[in-house]
Amino acid sequence: MSEKWDVVIVGAGIGGLTAAAMLVKAGLRVLVLERTTHFGGTAYVYKRKGFTFPMGPLGFSTPSLVGGILKSLDGEDLKLSPIQYRIKAFDLDIPLSLPFPKMIEELTRIFPAERKSVSQFFKDMEEMISAIQFPEQGLNRSILENGEKRSAQAYLSGLIDDWRLRRVLGSQGTQEPYSSLPLLAATWNLISNEGVWYPGG
Ligand SMILES: Cc1cc2nc3c(=O)[nH]c(=O)nc-3n(C[C@H](O)[C@H](O)[C@H](O)COP(=O)(O)OP(=O)(O)OC[C@H]3O[C@@H](n4cnc5c(N)ncnc54)[C@H](O)[C@@H]3O)c2cc1C
Repeated sequence: MSEKWDVVIVGAGIGGLTAAAMLVKAGLRVLVLERTTHFGGTAYVYKRKGFTFPMGPLGFSTPSLVGGILKSLDGEDLKLSPIQYRIKAFDLDIPLSLPFPKMIEELTRIFPAERKSVSQFFKDMEEMISAIQFPEQGLNRSILENGEKRSAQAYLSGLIDDWRLRRVLGSQGTQEPYSSLPLLAATWNLISNEGVWYPGG
C-alpha cells in the first residue's frame, strides 16, 4: 500500500462509502475512487426543475441492522420512519403496512364475503415465513419444498373468489404472481411485518 493510504476502495456506491466511513472511523487513511461524476452509485438522487428523481432505493428493510450502521457513522440519533404502503385501485384504498392481525381486520371489513379465506391466507403466510426463518426445524423443509412447487397464482385462485382481493394479496395490486409461495410470503413479511424504512432528512 502507498505511504499515503492504508486502503483504496474502488466505487463510491453505498457499499464503498459505508466501508470507507467505517474504516476512517477506525483510524485508517482511505482513498475512494469513483469513475462517474457523482457519488452514491445506484443510491443516487438528482434534481431537475424542482423535482427529485431517485435512481435506486427508496428505503430498506432490517432497520436494526442498517439503522445501527447509519447511527454509528452519523454519531447522532438518526430517526428512521416506516413507509406506509397503500393500494389505491378498484375504487378501494387499502393499507398494506400493517401487522397481519390488522391486515385481516381491514381486508375482512372491505371484503366481508372473504372472511374465512383472508384468515386462511395470513395463516398460510405465517407458516411459510416461519419455515423460511427456520428451514431446518420440524416439518419446515417439506413446507418449503411443497410451497416452491406451487405458484402463488394457483394457490390464490383456489382460495379467493374476488379477483380484486386475489390481486391485492398476490402482488400488491398488480396481478397474481407466477412466483412461488415462499417468495409471496417473504414479500408480505417485508411489507407488513418488517416494514420498509427510510432515514429522516
Ligand atoms: C431501481 C432500483 C431500486 C432499488 N430499490 C431498492 C430499495 O428499495 N431498497 C434497497 O435496499 N435496495 C434497493 N435497490 C438496490 C440498491 O440500490 C443497491 O443494492 C445498492 O445501492 C448497491 O450499492 P453498491 O455500493 O453495492 O453498488 P453501486 O451502487 O452499483 O455502486 C458501485 C459504484 O462503483 C462505481 N464503479 C464501478 N466500477 C468502477 C471502477 N472500475 N472504477 C471506479 N468506480 C467504479 C460505480 O460507478 C458505482 O458508483 C434498488 C436498485 C435499483 C436499481
